[in-house]
Amino acid sequence: PNRVVIKIGSSSLTSLHGEVSRKKLEKLVDQVVALKDEGMEVVLVSSGAVAAGYRKLGFIERPSSLPEKQAAASIGQGLLMESYSELFLSHGYVASQILITRTDFSNENRYYNMSNTINVLLERGIIPIVNENDTVTVDRLKFGDNDTLSAKVAALINADQLMILSDIDGLYTDNPSTNPDAKMLEHVTEITESIEAAAGDSGSAVGTGGMKSKIDAVKISMASGISTFLGKADIPDILIDAVNGNAHGTYFENK
Ligand code: ADP
Repeated sequence: PNRVVIKIGSSSLTSLHGEVSRKKLEKLVDQVVALKDEGMEVVLVSSGAVAAGYRKLGFIERPSSLPEKQAAASIGQGLLMESYSELFLSHGYVASQILITRTDFSNENRYYNMSNTINVLLERGIIPIVNENDTVTVDRLKFGDNDTLSAKVAALINADQLMILSDIDGLYTDNPSTNPDAKMLEHVTEITESIEAAAGDSGSAVGTGGMKSKIDAVKISMASGISTFLGKADIPDILIDAVNGNAHGTYFENK
């Protein structure tokens, strides 16, 4: 694949205390840089704005009310972008920020504007970093993180592959945090009723969508014929391996 969308969840970017981890950001950036060095076009869909901002808003722990999370994201989004920009620049790459809302996809003008903008950025070697515009929409903060948003972005720009990085190494036959007998599936060609039933909520305090919203995302990407990989964010070289088809994780591909 030449054009890929990578989605990373809050739980994969934060430390145990819920703050954004510089180390984890660096590791992600290094992997994206490796793909860029191969000549690939990469769009990053990154969560983490709330995690990057809540302390500066005066909270000791991640706040729980929506307006407080939105306010934290308003501080954190800029800080997160600052870190990304700095890290990518140190490797010679330029990052850009794209804030979108779900309704942007159902407005024809906005749809084409988004697509044109991202195409120009990609053609010029830039790494667009997408997040939901938390000030005006709370969907992501309420449910689903950026899972379905990343699938819509992948469809919008005709990506070859969507990669969803999570705190779990793949899709299991049942929620592995509650069922120790659950088995990981390596290849999925169809989202069946039993897969939908197996996909449960998030097990972590920072994760919001769980496997449910990831399956919703996969339904969107598969409907657009985009192969999708789900894997664990902290496995070394997971992105390069996923692109080459030999990563540990779940591959979703139409038959
Ligand atoms: P992220 O923040 O990385 O997006 P989430 O916490 O939202 O991650 O979602 C991943 C979690 O979903 C897993 O850690 C697991 O607890 C839960 N989960 C529920 N059902 C399943 C399943 N069938 N297979 C794998 N994980 C599942």
